[in-house]
Amino acid sequence: MTRFGFIGMGIMGSAMAANLVRAGFEVVVWNRSPQKCAPLQDLGARIARTPRALVAECPVTFAMLADPQAAADVCFGQEGVCDAMVQGKGYVDMSTIDAATSQRIAAAIREKGGRFLEAPVSGSKKPAEDGTLVILSGGDRTLYEEVEPAFAKMGKRSFYLGDVGQGARMKLVVNMIMGAMMAAFCEGLVLGERGDLDPETILEVLDAGALANPMFRLKGPRMLAEDFAVNFPLKHMQKDLRLALLHGDETAQPLHVSAAANEAFKQARAQGLGDEDFSALLAALRTNSG
Ligand code: NAP
Repeated sequence: MTRFGFIGMGIMGSAMAANLVRAGFEVVVWNRSPQKCAPLQDLGARIARTPRALVAECPVTFAMLADPQAAADVCFGQEGVCDAMVQGKGYVDMSTIDAATSQRIAAAIREKGGRFLEAPVSGSKKPAEDGTLVILSGGDRTLYEEVEPAFAKMGKRSFYLGDVGQGARMKLVVNMIMGAMMAAFCEGLVLGERGDLDPETILEVLDAGALANPMFRLKGPRMLAEDFAVNFPLKHMQKDLRLALLHGDETAQPLHVSAAANEAFKQARAQGLGDEDFSALLAALRTNSG
């Protein structure tokens, strides 16, 4: 039986690892806060003591971690992934991080003789649970081909985009657009409320025209009900905008709209909404409008 390691049992990682277990793969898991491994253990996964111990017993390891700092900590930290990396092993980092961090991780893995693939995903908690993510890969092609059976259980589509960095950049482009869309959506709803428009009717009007999309359709009614149960944490949305803007700085590409969206999400974080769903930006804007 093929054995996979999976590091990071957050919202996304726990659902993705569960799909690998259900598909019949042997799965070994690790999470910084160990209690989050329990549901996976109940499904049949084994728990490793450290990332190093996990990598030592798995030919290929996936990781799904919060941000560049978390990805680097797990790779380079004490008892980390690099400590157990040897010739031929594979490491697939599916976290949303910047290209530079991804390349730094790739270089360290390769130096030990390992193979590295970045594979961030488009799609949130529900697609992670349903195995319908869109996987955006860059790096070692042989590893990409080798893990396709696992990708097929986690996602509905996977792209191979070239060298390490291309998957990270594609993911940041996607989320930069999504962040700006959500910010515009929230501002539109709040402005409509100011002008005494019925918010339900705003949703209906949007859905009837060229702006209809699954995100507004799914999130809109929940937002009006002030249901901000977390699918995609707001702090991660702001992190993705920050990383996209950093890429814009590096390439001297102006990103006016994304910069404004970043400020809006940053303000929401400052208001203590970082652990809510990113749609809680609506609550932040309502507070601001007094
Ligand atoms: P999450 O629920 O916040 O999980 C984050 C994971 O990172 C947890 O396992 C956490 O461990 C771990 N972590 C954080 N800092 C760490 C550190 N210094 N050392 C070791 N582990 C650390 O986030 P998520 O929603 O699953 O997202 C994971 C990644 O996928 C992020 O990059 C996010 O941007 C991306 N993503 C999310 C979605 C979504 O809709 N949720 C969609 C697409 C992509 P603890 O449990 O110990 O905190």
